[in-house]
Parts: sequence; C-alpha cells; structure tokens
Amino acid sequence: MRRKLIVGNWKMHGSRDQVCRLLEAIGSGSEQLSQGVEIGVCPTNLHLGLAFEFLDSDSGLGKIKLGAQNVHVEPKGAYTGEVSAPMLSEYGVSFVLVGHSERRQLFAESDQFVAEKFKAAQASGLTPILCVGETLEQRQAEETEQQVLSQLDAVIATAGIAAIQDAVIAYEPVWAIGTGKTASPAQAQQVHRLLREHLSQLDPTVAKATRIIYGGSVKAANAQELFSQPDIDGGLVGGASLEAEEFISICKSAD
Ligand code: PEP
Repeated sequence: MRRKLIVGNWKMHGSRDQVCRLLEAIGSGSEQLSQGVEIGVCPTNLHLGLAFEFLDSDSGLGKIKLGAQNVHVEPKGAYTGEVSAPMLSEYGVSFVLVGHSERRQLFAESDQFVAEKFKAAQASGLTPILCVGETLEQRQAEETEQQVLSQLDAVIATAGIAAIQDAVIAYEPVWAIGTGKTASPAQAQQVHRLLREHLSQLDPTVAKATRIIYGGSVKAANAQELFSQPDIDGGLVGGASLEAEEFISICKSAD
C-alpha cells in the first residue's frame, strides 16, 4: 500500500515572516490528518534553515517534511550560487525536486543533468522527486508518451531501476503548471498508468512500490477526484500551497 504524499512547492515566494506563518498554520491544520498521508513543503534554499529551526523547535510541526527545490550534482566545489545534497541533508531536508519543468525550460537542464542530480540526491540520503511532463505542443502532437518515458528512462539508465523505488515520480504536464488548467482525472490517470506499466516491464516490485504524484494546478476543488485515481499517489502543489487553508484541504482530500 503506497502512502499518499502531498508536497508544496513554494517556488521563489515568501518572506521570513510568511514562511513562519505558513508553517505554523500548516502545522496546526495537519494535526487533523491521519498517518495515511505524508506532507512536505519546499521553501527557497534561503528559507530552508529558518524552516528547519522552526519545525525542529515545535514538536507539533514534526509531521511536516522539508524539501528543497533544486540540488547540484557535485557534493562541493567551485559552483557559484549552487547548493549540494550534503548541505541540504545537514539542514534536515528529506527530499528534493529534480527536473521541475521550470528548471528544464528556464535553466536549460537536460535529461542527463537531471539524472545526475537524482543520483547525487540519493547518494546523500535525500529522496528525489523526479518531475516529468509534456508541453502543450507535445501533447497536441501526441508525443506525451515518448516525452515522459524518455525523461524517466534517462534516470533509469543512470541510476538503475532499483533506485526508482526510493524516489517519487511527479507527473506534471507543463501546460497545467501555474495556468489554472488541470489535467482531467482521466488524462492524469492515463499517464500515471503508462509510467507505472513502464516500470512494471522492468521490475514489477518497483512499479508497485513507487509513488507517482500529480502536479499542475491542483486545488481543493479538484484534488479529491485526482487523488482517487488508482495510480495517483498524491500531489505536487505550487500556487495553492501558499494558502495554508487551501493546502490543508488538499491534504485532507488525500487522507
Ligand atoms: C509546480 O510548480 O510544481 C506546480 C504544480 O504548480 P501549480 O500547482 O501552481 O500549477
């Protein structure tokens, strides 16, 4: 049985004050959730230390896991502006997004570079959340399958199939991110099933155990129907994760 996972991606948002207020509100809201749902938030790297201390100082907030939005492939070195996996680990980070479409598109990250980040994250004990997804043009050209599978295969070729079980896959259609256009539950389920069947051809045990979450304009109003699909194990939530009440209501839909 795969435990549902809801992760908030705060992107480049938040002040010190907002981070603390959001954590406090999500922490108290999460008390109503059962152990059946795991929740996490990804603040900016700058706010990770603050969030770590805040979560650590209040036992009631212990349910919230900390994630990072990015990681470099090397553990240390002359990489100005970058942060490594061992550094994230030291700040209580449990998981890290790799291959988010904003990084692939705006920062020209290739499938191979994403695969190396995935490996670097796992080498430091972090759980990578591997984001895959097609653009609108690719969907219209019926290239969704080819796109998501090649993004996944690049990681499998570098890290091995067994490594996927200790990670999370996030299917995030690029056309649904930050646009208010959510994939319908049937559209999302179709791609989630495709990803799981692909894993199953390589290793059925990995396919059964791996969590595949959906991201792209998830909100309280559509979360329940998405999360009730058999191959959707939770959500990666951008905009709606910046509103504590909305985020908690999304988490409740997975519980
Ligand atoms: C995201 O950034 O991963 C995301 C899913 O954003 P949004 O929920 O705002 O579409």
